[in-house]
Amino acid sequence: MYDPKQVKKNFPVLDQEVHPGKPLVYLDSAATSQKPKKVIEVMAHYYLNDNANVHRGVHVLSDRATDAWDRAKETVAQFVGAEKDELIFTRNTTEATNGIAYGWGDHNLGKGDVIVTTLMEHHANLVVWQELCKRTGANLEVVGLKDEATIDLEEFAKIVKKPDVKLVAFVHVSNSLGTVNPVKEMVSLVRKHAKEARIVLDAAQSVPHLPVDFHELDVDFLCFSGHKMLGPMGIGGLVVKKELLKSGEMQPWLFGGGMIGNVGEQQASYADDLTDLFTAGTPDVASAIGLAEACKFLDNLGMEDVMKHDFELVEYAFKQLSGIKGLEIVGPRPEKYNRLGSVAFVHDTVHAHDLAQILDSEGVAVRSGHHCTMPLHKACGWQATTRASFNVYSTKEDIDALVKAFDKVAKIFKL
Ligand code: PMP
Repeated sequence: MYDPKQVKKNFPVLDQEVHPGKPLVYLDSAATSQKPKKVIEVMAHYYLNDNANVHRGVHVLSDRATDAWDRAKETVAQFVGAEKDELIFTRNTTEATNGIAYGWGDHNLGKGDVIVTTLMEHHANLVVWQELCKRTGANLEVVGLKDEATIDLEEFAKIVKKPDVKLVAFVHVSNSLGTVNPVKEMVSLVRKHAKEARIVLDAAQSVPHLPVDFHELDVDFLCFSGHKMLGPMGIGGLVVKKELLKSGEMQPWLFGGGMIGNVGEQQASYADDLTDLFTAGTPDVASAIGLAEACKFLDNLGMEDVMKHDFELVEYAFKQLSGIKGLEIVGPRPEKYNRLGSVAFVHDTVHAHDLAQILDSEGVAVRSGHHCTMPLHKACGWQATTRASFNVYSTKEDIDALVKAFDKVAKIFKL
C-alpha cells in the first residue's frame, strides 16, 4: 500500500516550521520537487570520496568517476525507456528544447517549413521555436484548446495535415492545467499526416508522475528536468531516437573538449561514440549520480503507484477546494479527463499573489503567476493563477491544510 507519510520521512526539508507554530506544507513541487536524503547523500559521497574528471584520466579516482557517470546514464536512460546512447544530459528541460533547436532545427528546417505547438505550452517549448523560426524562416502554428482545458484535437489534426509540417512539439502533462495529453493519439495523427515531421515531447511534468517509456511513446525527442523528479537542480535530459543521432540528422550543438576525434588548427573531426559526441566539456557527474538515485527511489515506489497516488490527490483537492466560495479550479475536471500533478485556481475577489502570500503565512507554500504559460493565461483571461502542486510525499493532510488556510483569506478579505 502506498503510504505517503512513510515516503515523506525521506525528505528532511519537509520537517520544519516556516513561521512560528506553522509547519511547512510544501505544495510547490511542479516548480521543483524536494530531494530524498539518499539523493543528497550519494552526491556528498561522490564529492567526499571519488571526485575526478571523467574519461580523461588513468588514475583510480578518474576511473571511479567515469564508472559512476556511465552507470548513472544507464539508470536514467532506463528509467525513461531509452537506450543509454539516446540520452544526452542537459541542465534541464529548457536546455533540452534549445538543444533540439540548435542541434536539429538549424540543420533541418528552412523557409516555409511549419513548426506546430499548442496553446498550453511552457515557454521552454514555445519561445525556443519562435527563435528557431526567426533563424530559419519557418512558420509557427499554435493549436488552440477546448474549454480552456484540453488540446483541440480536431484543430491539431487539421494543422498537422498542412504541407511542410516538419516539427510538432507538445507537452505531456501541462504545468498550469494539469491536463494529461493523449500522446499516443497525437503521435499517430502526426505519423499519419505529416510523415516527415519529428515530434518533441515536453515530459518535464510527466516523468515525475507517471510511467514514461520513450520507445513506446514513439516520439523523436523527449525532454525532462531532474529537479522536478526528486533529483538535483542542474541536470536534465534530452532523449533522441538513435537513428537521428546515427544518421547525423541531429548534430552536436556544443563544441570543445571531450567530443572531438582529431583536432587541427583549422578543422576538427568529432567523436564516433554518441555519448562523447554530445558531452562537450566537463559534465556534472555528481548531479548525474544524484539523478540516477532519484530514478531508483521512484522505481522502488513504483511509478504506477506514484501515478495512482497523484490522481487521488488531485481528485481530493477538487473535492475539498470546491467548497471554497469564489474559487474556481482551472483545467479539466478529473472525473472527465486525465489530469495530475497540480491544481491551479483563480478567485473572484482575491488576487493570486495575495492568495499565495496569505497561504504562506499559514505555512502553505504555493506558487502564483503565469507559471511560464503566458499565452495560455492571456487566452483564458487569467491575470495570474495560484497553483498547488504535488509529488510523492504529498498527503491529503497537506490539502486539508491548504483548505484550512483559506479561513485566513476569508478573515482578511472579510469574505
Ligand atoms: N516544461 C514544463 C511543462 C514545465 O513545467 C517546466 C518547468 N516549470 C519546463 C518545461 C521548464 O523546466 P526547466 O525550468 O527545468 O527547464
